[in-house]
Amino acid sequence: MRYGVFGDIHSNLAALRAVMDGMRTQRVEGHLCLGDIVGYGADARECVEIIRDLDPTVIAGNHDWAVAGRLGLEYFNTQAQAAIVWTRRELPADDIEWLGALELRRVRGGVTLSHGTVHDPQQFQYLQTPHDAFLSFQEMKTKTAFVGHSHIPVTFFDGLPITYSLEQRIEFGDRIAIANPGSVGQPRDEDPRASFAVYDSDARVLEIHRVEYDIGATVGRILRAGLPVLLGERLRIGR
Ligand code: ZN
Repeated sequence: MRYGVFGDIHSNLAALRAVMDGMRTQRVEGHLCLGDIVGYGADARECVEIIRDLDPTVIAGNHDWAVAGRLGLEYFNTQAQAAIVWTRRELPADDIEWLGALELRRVRGGVTLSHGTVHDPQQFQYLQTPHDAFLSFQEMKTKTAFVGHSHIPVTFFDGLPITYSLEQRIEFGDRIAIANPGSVGQPRDEDPRASFAVYDSDARVLEIHRVEYDIGATVGRILRAGLPVLLGERLRIGR
């Protein structure tokens, strides 16, 4: 099965549309969404609507739970807090309830999904080092896991030592792997294009795809919404 794997959309509608087009072009048959549908950007309602219509296997990100009041604002910096408060005002009650009902970790088709780490999803920590990966490998009951949160596309492999790959096309082979598809709406690897992955679960091959979207218009929408200026400017540099 060919899965479209994506997350950290962060209310960026233009980026989400570009990724939806990209997944269609790649003829994906199923969708795995790693959370943080909202937060930071100015298109919360539209992004939640698209994801609810798509009905992927989806989990909660920290911003989703914060908007729904399941995670305290003290876990966020001031710009993120401003966006969470803005998003609460913007979303219909039904969407807020839907975000709050998302689970932290799910398994589908031999794949585990978690926003932060596999081993401690409720802490929303970054899975960035071999040690983070080691702790998550101990918890995994599937051969493949996908995580988000860091907004950096990277794949870790279990073993001695634990290794990682930043390649765009990665063959997992028989290895136990944790992969991050990067971020749709706020990339942080200095490539400002929207990021998603296609995972062929039969061949166990992952491909990272990057797609252009109208960043200038998106920055304008963030400014007009009265959101912090930095939340727009960082999109231009992908940081
Ligand atoms: Zn995020």
